[in-house]
Amino acid sequence: MKYHSTRDKSKSLTGGEAIIKGISEDGGLFVPESIPKLPGIENMLEMSYQEIAQIILGMYLTDFTSDEIKEAVEQAYDSKFESDEIVPLVIKGEAVFLELFHGPTFAFKDMALSILPYLLKTALKKNGIKDEIVILVATSGDTGKAALEGFKDVPGTKVIVFFPEDGVSPIQRKQMLTQEGDNTYVVRLNGNFDDAQNGVKKMFGDELFNQVLAQKGYVLSSANSINIGRLIPQIIYYVHGYLKLIKEGVLKSGDRVNVAVPTGNFGNILAAYYAKEMGLPIAKLICASNDNRILTDFFQTGAYDRRRQLMTTSSPSMDILISSNLERFIYHTSGEDDRLIIEKMSGLSNEGFYQYQEETDLVYPDMATEEEISYWINQLYKEEDYIMDPHTAVAYCAYKKYCELSKDHNVTLIASTASPYKFSEKVLKSLGVVSTGNDEFEKLWRLSDLMHSQVPSKLAELESLPVLHDHLCDPANMKEITLDLLKGGAHHD
Ligand SMILES: *Cc1c(COP(=O)(O)O)cnc(C)c1O
Repeated sequence: MKYHSTRDKSKSLTGGEAIIKGISEDGGLFVPESIPKLPGIENMLEMSYQEIAQIILGMYLTDFTSDEIKEAVEQAYDSKFESDEIVPLVIKGEAVFLELFHGPTFAFKDMALSILPYLLKTALKKNGIKDEIVILVATSGDTGKAALEGFKDVPGTKVIVFFPEDGVSPIQRKQMLTQEGDNTYVVRLNGNFDDAQNGVKKMFGDELFNQVLAQKGYVLSSANSINIGRLIPQIIYYVHGYLKLIKEGVLKSGDRVNVAVPTGNFGNILAAYYAKEMGLPIAKLICASNDNRILTDFFQTGAYDRRRQLMTTSSPSMDILISSNLERFIYHTSGEDDRLIIEKMSGLSNEGFYQYQEETDLVYPDMATEEEISYWINQLYKEEDYIMDPHTAVAYCAYKKYCELSKDHNVTLIASTASPYKFSEKVLKSLGVVSTGNDEFEKLWRLSDLMHSQVPSKLAELESLPVLHDHLCDPANMKEITLDLLKGGAHHD
C-alpha cells in the first residue's frame, strides 16, 4: 500500500514514511492509494478488538510485518483500557452508543494515541532513523493529555505539550500538570489555543530551528489528527461495533447502519467513511456540529467559510474553524482530484473561503445549540437513565433531528467521545443540579451518584497527585523554552 498526497498524486510513500512525516511538504495530507476491502463480515464475528485491529492495520500498513503490527496492537489495547472489550456498546433502542472513552485519559483520542507511538517507533526503526523524535503538541485539552499518556516512557521519543493557561477545563489542566514519565514536558502558555497552535506550526516550519535540533539528535514530529497513523486505528471501532451488534442479535449480517459523529477536525467521521468504503454497510454519516456550525453550513450550502468568530461552547474539542480532514474526504469523493484540492485549499488560506458542492448524499449535516445539548442530556437521562457528555449530546441531537426529518429507522451508532466525568459542570447543570460550587471533585462525586458508577480512579486520584510541571511561557518564547527543555541532547536524560 502506497500513500499519495491529497495535493500531489504522484508522491508515493510507504505507510511508515507517511506516519513519520505526518504532513506532505506540499501541505497536503497523506491518503492510501486505494481503500482495501474487509475479508467478509462472517469471517470476523468471533474476533476480539485486538484481532480486528491487526487485520485492519495489516491491510493499510503493508510495509510492517504481521509481528510488528501484533506487538503494537498488544501494547496499545491492553489493561490501560477500563473495559476488556476496549469499546463497549450501550444499546438504547435504535440508538447504540459506541463508548470510545474508556482509555487512560477518558476521551476518544486514546483510541488512536495509544497505538500511534508504537507505530511511529517501528516506522523509525524500519527506515533506519536514529534520531530521537520530539512530538510537539498544541492542545485545547484532550489531545495533549492523550499524547502525553500515549508517548510516556516510549523509548526514542519525547513529548512537549503547550496548553493555553486559561483555555482548558480544571480537570484537563490537572490531568496534564500531574503527568508522569521521564520524556514528558508540559508548558502552560500565556495565550489562547490559536497562539499555541501558531507557535507549534512556526517551529515545524523554521528550517534553522530544525537544523539546530538535528545537531542535537532530534527530529520534530506531530501527533495531531492529520497524521494517517491516527486515522487508520479509528476505523477499527466502527467495524468492531457493527460485528458486536450482529453477535448480540440486534442486526443481521448485511443490515445497514447509520453513524452519528460529533465532529471537529473531521477525523473520526472520516474513519467511518473509510470503514464504509472497506465494505461496512453504513447508510448515512450524520455529521454533528456545535454552535461552530462551519461543517453544517458547508454540507448544506457548499460554502466553506471560516470568516467568522470562533465560539466557546461546552463541547470544546469541537470548537474549531478549520476541519483539516475534510480535505481527505473531498479528495476521495471527487475522484482523487489533487488539482481541485490545491485550488480549494489555497482559497481557504488566502480568502478564508471556498465553494464546493459535494456530489454525495452520504452525509447528513446538522448541529446542536447549547440549549439543545442540555435538553438532550436531560431527556436521555429521564427516558433511559443514561448520561452523555456534551460532545456526545451534540451527535445525539443531530441524530434525533435526522430521525424526525427522514423517518429512517436504521440502527445508529453514536460515537460517544468523552466521559461525562470530564465535563461534569455542563452535565450536572443539564440534569438540573443547580449549585455545585467551585470544587471540581465535589462535582465528580455528585455525578457518580447520578450515573450509578464510581468515579474512574485515574480522575479521582488527581485531587491528591502532585503537580510535576511548572513551566509557563509567552507565545513569543515557545522556541526558546523548547530548546531549553531539550538542551541535554538526545538519549542523554
Ligand atoms: C477530538 C474530539 C472530537 C472531535 O473529533 P474529530 O476527529 O476532530 O472530528 C469530539 N469529541 C471529543 C471529546 C474529542 O476529544
